[in-house]
Amino acid sequence: SALRDTRTKKTKTVCTFCGVGCTFDVWTKGRKILKVQPTPDAPVNGISTCVKGKFGWDFINSEERLTTPLIRKGDEFVEATWEEAFDLIGRRLGEIKNQHGADALGFISSSKVTNEENFLMQKLARAVIGTNNVDNCSRYCQSPATDGLMRTVGLGGDAGSIHDLATAGLVIIVGANPAEAHPVFATRIKRAQKLHGQKLIVADLRKNEMAERANLFIRPKQGTDAIWLSAVAKYIVDQGWQDREFLAAKVNGFEEFCASLAPYDLATASEITGLSQEQMIRIAEMIRDADGTCIAWAMGVTQNCGGSETSAVISDLLLITGNYGRPGAGAYPLRGHNNVQGACDFGTLPVWMPGYQFWSDEPVREKFAKAWGTELPSTRGKDNIQMVEAMHNGTLRGMYLMGEDMAWVDANANHVQAALEKLEFFVVQDLFLTRTAQYADVILPACPSLEKEGTFTNTERRIQRLYQVMKPLGDSRPDWQIIQGVANALGANWNYEHPSEIMDEVASLAPIFAGVSYERLEGFKSLLWPVTADGTDTPLLYTDGFAKPDGKAVLAPLNYVAPLTATEEYDLLLNNGRLLEHFHEGNLTNKSTGIQHKVPDTFLEVSPELAAERGIEDGATVRLESAYGAVRLRVLITDRVRGKELYLPMNSVSDETAVNLLTGAGHDLRTNTPAYKQTYVRMQVLIPR
Ligand code: SF4
Repeated sequence: SALRDTRTKKTKTVCTFCGVGCTFDVWTKGRKILKVQPTPDAPVNGISTCVKGKFGWDFINSEERLTTPLIRKGDEFVEATWEEAFDLIGRRLGEIKNQHGADALGFISSSKVTNEENFLMQKLARAVIGTNNVDNCSRYCQSPATDGLMRTVGLGGDAGSIHDLATAGLVIIVGANPAEAHPVFATRIKRAQKLHGQKLIVADLRKNEMAERANLFIRPKQGTDAIWLSAVAKYIVDQGWQDREFLAAKVNGFEEFCASLAPYDLATASEITGLSQEQMIRIAEMIRDADGTCIAWAMGVTQNCGGSETSAVISDLLLITGNYGRPGAGAYPLRGHNNVQGACDFGTLPVWMPGYQFWSDEPVREKFAKAWGTELPSTRGKDNIQMVEAMHNGTLRGMYLMGEDMAWVDANANHVQAALEKLEFFVVQDLFLTRTAQYADVILPACPSLEKEGTFTNTERRIQRLYQVMKPLGDSRPDWQIIQGVANALGANWNYEHPSEIMDEVASLAPIFAGVSYERLEGFKSLLWPVTADGTDTPLLYTDGFAKPDGKAVLAPLNYVAPLTATEEYDLLLNNGRLLEHFHEGNLTNKSTGIQHKVPDTFLEVSPELAAERGIEDGATVRLESAYGAVRLRVLITDRVRGKELYLPMNSVSDETAVNLLTGAGHDLRTNTPAYKQTYVRMQVLIPR
């Protein structure tokens, strides 16, 4: 009966918390989750999950969920019908477009929503409004990795599957904390260490759990990874250990690359990075001796002024040692959010159409224009960071944002919040009244993953289906239905009845998804792109050459971008990142009672040396101040951090503790990804113990 749902049912879903892409069955009775049950059928995780996948779901039934559209009236939000909300959005976005042109509008998509919803968001921007101003939060994280890989090997995804990585002789983790941020991925490495003696090198500022398990743990100075990686590459070439056959057959640009390394001998690299020459020699020897090397990296590399260059150097090192195109070798950028890979793949990027087709290529434009029956925008789009600047200078006047708390997760949050205040019209679509939503003119209540169908793509390029576990709460709707409503309010005539129809459209337009269909993804089945029309997928990339015009990879010459450094005024380096228990800024997991009980708010990790110097004890309260803002935090003294390096987890429940009040305006020079990891602060002791 509609009045009382007493059936128990089991539904397959994909975890919504991180890029590992665990799948499992969810047992429910009505809206109550009875248990999360992983199964051997799950291609990535089998019977494993982490604490978030198992216990992080309370947010689904949170009383704070938005259940009806809201429209701003003065300082208040009042409930509205969907029709009223769509009418207002259609009218206001239409007015701004007519008065100021399509590029006066911007669209921010989400790495938490499905592939199909991302596709529709960029279609709305490009085909209905007529602008390429569309971006997603990969701008804050993995755009530099994509850039480095595109330049060298041609595709912006992991070279192989997590199963392949587990067969590597050597794994090198640079600037990543997988035991907390990608837990099931980390368990695969731990198991490979035990089962076949896989070697592990960890390069990080902070002694995280994987560092403790590593055969070699190195702590290069902040932002200098490109230098030690290059010195290792140079040493390998100097010793004649490079893979000559692989280079001759499959790689261009060797001479130029070697010339760019010339200044970085071991002595110079040692001076810049703080590593010993012996450490770099040992790394070179371990790569030489390994039966296959994989390098995994994340924000510790990418969120730096030289993140793209370092990502390219990682790929270079793999290329000169012949470490591509076979299992247990290759580049593994670790995607953070559950669908950051898919958000990019499906085209919510200013210069890439779905399937990494370049926006200005004439044949691409013609194909999409024909399919969509409209001209495509002819100006290059703005990325997220450029959109914020355009809000400040008044050229971007309206924005539609889905599933992204940009007032909180963008670097330099005070600056972003000031930009949002200047918007003439702002639509936010989310599960909760986020900090960003408080700046909105219209708020649209969306559904979380458990209430809708669609697909997510994990860090390995694996596309997996999620099924509807329960009905939308209240009047909330799946994001794809909402975007369709907005498009139609702007004069489009979209009639998608199910996300599978959207996927069929993508398959017809993007060659890398040619053979993707819902039938081929049924149940626990999955496909790793590229997928040919006959449904053959590609777990391992580059077995038949690289995604470049002549099939050969291109070594990117080193172009070192020196990091920002401490000053007399801001003398402490503030590193930042994730915790196992919480997801990202905590918007979802801080609604889970158990998790919240375990880790109620963020805290500041301080080294024993610094604590002694400043006379503080565990539990002390300090104020941190950067050139951009200030926060107040409790102190945890730990030798995970050293000297004048601090660590601040990014989950926070209050406006007083959020890391992005401190992060600044520095950014990666090629992709504009904020240099979150190059934040410098000063510390004032408020309560010493
Ligand atoms: Fe979810 Fe990631 Fe944990 Fe798997 S490892 S259960 S995908 S948060």
